[in-house]
Amino acid sequence: MKTRNYLILMAALILLPVILFASLGLNMLLLQERESRFLAVEEIARATALAIDQEIAQAQGSLNVLANTPFFKTEDFGSLHALMAQVKGAQNTWNIVYDYGGNQQVNSVVPFGTPLPATLNPRVARLIDSQAPHVSNLLIGELQQVPIIAASMPVALPNGKKYLVSQIFRLDYFNSLLNSPSLSSSWIVGLFDADGISLARTPDRGEMVGKPVRSDLYLASLQGFSGRTRHITRDNIAVYSVFTHTVRTGWTVAIGVPEEEIEAPARRAAWYAALVMGVMFAMVTFITLYLARHLTRSLDHAVDAAGVLGTGGVPVMQPSRVAEVDVLQSALHQAGAALSRENSVRLALEQERESLLRSEKAARQQAENQNRAKDEFLAMLGHELRNPLAPISTAAQLLKAPGADSHRVRICGEIIDRQVTHMTELVNDLLDVSRVTRGLVALDMEDLDIQSAISSAIEQVRPVIDARRHELVMQLDPSPAWVHGNCTRLIQVTANLLNNAAKYTPEGGRIVLSLQVLETELRMAVSDNGIGIAPGLLMQVFDLFTQAERTPDRAQGGLGLGLTLVKSLVALHGGQVEAHSQGLGQGSTFTVILPRLQRTG
Ligand code: ADP
Repeated sequence: MKTRNYLILMAALILLPVILFASLGLNMLLLQERESRFLAVEEIARATALAIDQEIAQAQGSLNVLANTPFFKTEDFGSLHALMAQVKGAQNTWNIVYDYGGNQQVNSVVPFGTPLPATLNPRVARLIDSQAPHVSNLLIGELQQVPIIAASMPVALPNGKKYLVSQIFRLDYFNSLLNSPSLSSSWIVGLFDADGISLARTPDRGEMVGKPVRSDLYLASLQGFSGRTRHITRDNIAVYSVFTHTVRTGWTVAIGVPEEEIEAPARRAAWYAALVMGVMFAMVTFITLYLARHLTRSLDHAVDAAGVLGTGGVPVMQPSRVAEVDVLQSALHQAGAALSRENSVRLALEQERESLLRSEKAARQQAENQNRAKDEFLAMLGHELRNPLAPISTAAQLLKAPGADSHRVRICGEIIDRQVTHMTELVNDLLDVSRVTRGLVALDMEDLDIQSAISSAIEQVRPVIDARRHELVMQLDPSPAWVHGNCTRLIQVTANLLNNAAKYTPEGGRIVLSLQVLETELRMAVSDNGIGIAPGLLMQVFDLFTQAERTPDRAQGGLGLGLTLVKSLVALHGGQVEAHSQGLGQGSTFTVILPRLQRTG
């Protein structure tokens, strides 16, 4: 599941119980609010019933007064009528006195003496016999033929005659009671008798009074002293009816409150709650999505860092304000840095290994070269040592041959002497190189001007140079060139270089001997325009036994010891020797660099 969906799910799981409990709480509040509205209406209904009861009680009180007047006792109905007219209160109420047969004796609504309807009403006798005050249900008045209510009281005279005195109420009378200001104009307030006949109603439509009320309301009123019911009115309005009974008459006061009035606050509150929850839900969704996006981006940075790590790079930290992701990024960054360090170490090791391999290869190559050079040297040495043996052997044969005269002996002696001298030189050279290269030679050093050594060397090699008809050019710095060294060996070094130049330059060549006196060193160079040195040989020319390819006749001779000896001797003087050549046929230059002795004169 995606992080965003996780967060949305989490927010929903948190929000759901909140919404649930908030709804429950709200519902309870609304029920309470609704209940309190019902209770308020019930209070009003009870107060209205009480007011009606009071009216009836008042009527019964005034009947009691009438019954006990002397006019009644003396049956002076004319005076009683006058009294009734005097005490008459409201317009829509009046008094009637019935005899036991139900005939009206007095009716205060018409002048005394007016003929009254002679109706035999069994109800009157029944009420007189009950000897108790009584309030009727809806009746039709005999005189005016209008719906009325009668509150009656039986009266028994001392002469044995029995009467019924009643106070009659036109129904309008009760209508005025229902018009209390505490009753809302939107309510329907009704009063109906124990038979379920409507006595009064507001708003008064006229046509409804005197007729049976809705059966469901009537039936509900029979169920208890007070209660509630819901129904649709004739005007097609859904109402809650709250009813209660009057105590004295058993009538019912019913107040119909439009359902909307009871439920509207609840509905409004529900709408507000829904709106608040909607806004809350939108906010939570927005915040969740925002956080999810932020978190996803942070994780993407970490994924990128891991990718960079995978390609061997060092991930760059991108702070995300999410601590765990930052820790992860930092760990990846450190891992990247560690890997990179390890890589560079590994690379360095690899390079070192390769360079070791190369140098090992070069060393092996050099060893092989030296080995080959040594083999060649041995072969050459063999030749060099054998060459003198042939003339010596021939001379020996001639000496042994009979008849050797003094001339032959002398010639043979000279041959042997020359060859032995040559061999001795060879062997001395070998021993010398061996001793010098092994560091067994200690030189007697002195301060000397190298110019003298150069002159002696030229003297030595002059015959060779002349024999090969070379031109020797001297380019000597006239300044004194003092060194601390061994004259014999410096002569040997210079002579060796001149000798090589003479040997390895075709006849009639040009040899330049130069000397530069610098601040701290002397540079003596021997250049020629001879056969030159191949680049491959240039590096090894100072190694023992190294020689270029020889012509089959080995015209130049030599054992490849000379330059090794030169290098070792120069080194014993604290100097160094360098070889330069542009290549085969380009001539060569050998430069000896010696430390200059700071000395004047
Ligand atoms: P060698 O006895 O062979 O002369 P060296 O040690 O004096 O021995 O010289 C080594 C090799 O260096 C020579 O065999 C030759 O091939 C090369 N060499 C020395 N000097 C010169 C030069 N001036 N010109 C060309 N090649 C030279």
